[in-house]
Amino acid sequence: MPDFATTPQASAPQMLPHTHWPNFIDGYWQGGGSSVPVYNPGTGQQIATQACASATHVDRAVGAAQRCHQEGSFRHLAPVERGRLVQRMGQYLLEHLDEIANVLCLDVGKPLWEARLEVETAARYFEYYGNQAETMEGRSIPLGGQYFDFTVHEPYGVTAHIIPWNYPLEMTARSVSAALATGNTCVVKTPELDPLAVTYIARAAECVGLPAGALNILCGYGSEAGAALSAHPDIDQLVFTGSVQTGIAIATAAAQNVVPCVLELGGKSAAVVFDDADLEALVSDVRWGIYFNAGQVCSAMSRLIVHESIYDDVVSRVAEMSKSLEVGPGMAFPAHGPNMGAMISEAQRDKAEAMCQRAQQQGARLVAGGARLDRDGYFLAPTVIADVTAEMEIAQQEVFGPVVAVLKFRTEDEAIALANGTDYGLVGGVYSANINRAMRISRDIRAGQVFVNEWYAGGVETPFGGFGKSGYGREKGREALLNYVQTKNVGIAIKG
Ligand code: NAP
Ligand code: MG
Repeated sequence: MPDFATTPQASAPQMLPHTHWPNFIDGYWQGGGSSVPVYNPGTGQQIATQACASATHVDRAVGAAQRCHQEGSFRHLAPVERGRLVQRMGQYLLEHLDEIANVLCLDVGKPLWEARLEVETAARYFEYYGNQAETMEGRSIPLGGQYFDFTVHEPYGVTAHIIPWNYPLEMTARSVSAALATGNTCVVKTPELDPLAVTYIARAAECVGLPAGALNILCGYGSEAGAALSAHPDIDQLVFTGSVQTGIAIATAAAQNVVPCVLELGGKSAAVVFDDADLEALVSDVRWGIYFNAGQVCSAMSRLIVHESIYDDVVSRVAEMSKSLEVGPGMAFPAHGPNMGAMISEAQRDKAEAMCQRAQQQGARLVAGGARLDRDGYFLAPTVIADVTAEMEIAQQEVFGPVVAVLKFRTEDEAIALANGTDYGLVGGVYSANINRAMRISRDIRAGQVFVNEWYAGGVETPFGGFGKSGYGREKGREALLNYVQTKNVGIAIKG
């Protein structure tokens, strides 16, 4: 056992309520300094405490990951074997689906059925990238008869993963599975607001026999553990999902150490709706697009840009759907249905509510929701704000809550200008029965992913990432594997 004199070994946490959820460093559960409370956003009640990693814990975790990488026990495994370990981690999550979904539901505030989907998607990432581990082939480069030249993809080494609170399990699975499949070691900083479910990824690593140090998971504050991790001189690559402001701090730290980073920084994504769209399907997509996870989704459908001839009809259909949703603590919603959970914190709820109020002051029309619910927990009613114009804050800034802004357009050029009229560019969508029109919009929208006639069309297989202030680099799909490898060229002179 390593010398962790100041942090006695803890045991793996049990089911909630559990007093303390520790760090996982170098294959051991570690108490980790002072503790931070963890709340259920659906009730506002404290449900657990978590470790509070300091710069010293970060240093230990990075040291363990670096040692594991340098020893080679993980990176030199046959890719098929490494891939099987990664796949088995996903199987572990599925085998504990009920237990993990329960924890996610209580910790994040999302409906239980949404929590189950998150566990399934997290497991799917381990399956997908586990399968890809043995496909990272190089190429040979013809240099004439006197040389043999080839390339190999080598892992960077120690990768750092700073995780957002909206999908803590899924976002950790997304980057860690690809990093491990390509032979890297990982240090994860969980979100302070909802760290608990990520612990199960450490348990999965333990269970499948990942070498000690290959995966380390730290709880604590972004300003302390997150900042120490992103600035650590021994990390070789960084992945961050979160706000633009923190993204800039992360990119600056990465630049100081001259290491690459992937930034996924949210969006203000628009669906453009033409007069020949299937409006029933559209309304169902708005329900998923802006109320899934209470709108706390970087690729949420936060703007609807609607042709003037169907504008009033769309506004009233979307308002009716929004008012029909039941809102409450996640445990009240075991099955998929017209329901929505809490926002992650009081601060996020208050911020979203204030943005709704400012939108009205700027001349927009509230047609549904717009205010908190009068009950314990952090709830905002499903909100529709119509008559939004391009310069308003609600058209430009990410709410990160259950709030859709509706704008009107007359011509196709106007629709494209509105869709592209923010600093962001994560995803976009178009609804039309006319394939040429849909293709023109797909071509002209400045975004990393475009959905035609179905919001969220795609899966773990399809690359995802931003244009503009939505960040750079790609997660998901084959593209993401390239975040975690560097190309080495070997040239051999043939003598004689
Ligand atoms: P944030 O501050 O960007 O936090 C995201 C992650 O970065 C968390 O793990 C956070 O840790 C960590 N962090 C914070 N400060 C850090 C620092 N100086 N160095 C390294 N890591 C640091 O986001 P937030 O305050 O939770 O949410 C604010 C806004 O971010 C939201 O309104 C939303 O617009 C955006 N957001 C976007 C996404 C997305 O999917 N694109 C996800 C979440 C948030 P702690 O949480 O432990 O402090
Ligand atoms: Mg919580």
